[in-house]
Amino acid sequence: MSGQDLSADVIIIGSGAGAGTMAYALKDSGLEVLILERGDFLPVEAQNWSPEDTVAKSRYKPDEYWEHKGKRYRGSNHYYVGGMTKMFGACLARMRPSDFEEYGLDEGPSPAWPISYEDLEPYYAAAEKIWGVRGKTGEDPMEPPRSTPFPHLALEHEPEVERLAARLRDQGLNPYTLPMGVDYGDGGGCVRSRYCDGFSCPLHAKCDADVRCVRPALESPTVSIVTNCQAERLLTDRTGKRVVAVEVRHRGELKKASADAFVVGAGAANSAALFLRSASSSHPLGLANSSDQLGRNYIQHRDSALSGVDPRRPNETSFQKTLGLNDFYLSETGAHRRLGSLQTTGKVLHEHITGSLPWVPKWFAERVASRSIDWWLMTEDCPLESNRVVLSPGGGIRLEWQPTSIRRHRELVREARKMMRRAGYPLVVWKHFGLETNAHQSGTMRMGADPDTSVLDPYCRPHELENVHVVDAAFLPSLGGGPGGPTLTIAAMALRVAENSEILPKVRPADRLLEKE
Ligand SMILES: Cc1cc2nc3c(=O)[nH]c(=O)nc-3n(C[C@H](O)[C@H](O)[C@H](O)COP(=O)(O)OP(=O)(O)OC[C@H]3O[C@@H](n4cnc5c(N)ncnc54)[C@H](O)[C@@H]3O)c2cc1C
Repeated sequence: MSGQDLSADVIIIGSGAGAGTMAYALKDSGLEVLILERGDFLPVEAQNWSPEDTVAKSRYKPDEYWEHKGKRYRGSNHYYVGGMTKMFGACLARMRPSDFEEYGLDEGPSPAWPISYEDLEPYYAAAEKIWGVRGKTGEDPMEPPRSTPFPHLALEHEPEVERLAARLRDQGLNPYTLPMGVDYGDGGGCVRSRYCDGFSCPLHAKCDADVRCVRPALESPTVSIVTNCQAERLLTDRTGKRVVAVEVRHRGELKKASADAFVVGAGAANSAALFLRSASSSHPLGLANSSDQLGRNYIQHRDSALSGVDPRRPNETSFQKTLGLNDFYLSETGAHRRLGSLQTTGKVLHEHITGSLPWVPKWFAERVASRSIDWWLMTEDCPLESNRVVLSPGGGIRLEWQPTSIRRHRELVREARKMMRRAGYPLVVWKHFGLETNAHQSGTMRMGADPDTSVLDPYCRPHELENVHVVDAAFLPSLGGGPGGPTLTIAAMALRVAENSEILPKVRPADRLLEKE
């Protein structure tokens, strides 16, 4: 650091799933690594597990609004060390091999990736070790091939969830145990709290990017972090090919941070916005945007919550998120053509119901929540060029977006409703979510071999820049419709980039990461 400005060998912007994993991968490289994080460490406090504070009052959401069609919305963003993973549901699942191949969706193709599942597999294995995933093989007929067993034994279902699983098996379906990142058993601090999915963990027993990646990285004498430090613009040299510094706002003060190499991991929308704000005479449409693809192909999954209610049976489950179902995904025959996947959510609380349906009386919401068993339904959405992040006149984030995959998602909901009635839940209620539920936001700087149709090359380097990688969800060409969210894929890609980068000195190969952890 010199004077007011900052410097390092490598600057990492953000500290979430992608950026945090990159910090971890570089911790023993000998490089001076500086993490610039817009937020702070999330405090450990009584409110962490308070539904009133976390759900009803959105205590941990930033006071930031994005725009869509002239309306403001708040989204699922969380700006802390660890990013959105501080609040995530901790399902750490791999994508399926076919998710990396082209597939026809209603509105257009889900494009082929420039790499295959096999290319990413060793990094999935390394990421599962670092993130402490617990899971079980042999239950999900669609599980992808693996070179290593899960690092930890799976979480067991609680009785009500096991009962549902048995009733699904009776229907010929194949429920399976979700791969989860919580530090349970073997001396771990997890107590199977009801307040995990959508809450931060005061015990630091949720395997988020802060706990599993950033804190271990900061133990290295060569890694440091500046919090409350928001990247505003990337500045290039005269050739326009190298980023030389990032302009940051640190506790209200404008500073420059310079480095030989930069890794951007600000999240899909914020990274695209950062590059758009970095327009210059060499890059008039935004940095690395000659293709006009920057910000486009925005995807986030099409989601619904669905609850089966048996008015006679209270559901006393504490940790409900252990069950997955892929029978409506990847089946090429009959009605179940890649409709999507189901996973149980953290237990739905009356605050969730009244939060999204304010007209529902509290007594009714309490009655439903105490008797429901709850699913999250996800369908792959289609990366359209017209679905994109742009800047509003004030420099904020605006989404130009129309929903896709409506038909397939409706079919998935219909199948799930029938399934739950057959399983013994006479009342089935559900709610679709839209743009504001952007927890899985991805795809704004997609990777590809062709610079005309992609922003990043197959190692997540912008085609037009020599010394930058982008390792957050922006790189994803597609999201698939399988279980979990994109976190494990983002983490695996960060490890792949770290190991193969031409701009970062070589770091430990994945197999050594595997040996050491
Ligand atoms: C409630 C909830 C539940 C979820 N459940 C799951 C789940 O079970 N499984 C799963 O796989 N995924 C889940 N997700 C999604 C998952 O958290 C995200 O997909 C993942 O965190 C995205 O990683 P990322 O690196 O792209 O962004 P993030 O993890 O969000 O990291 C972005 C980082 O950049 C920082 N930042 C942003 N702008 C700037 C800037 N200008 N300058 C400096 N820093 C900046 C942010 O503060 C943040 O630290 C969930 C998300 C939520 C909100």
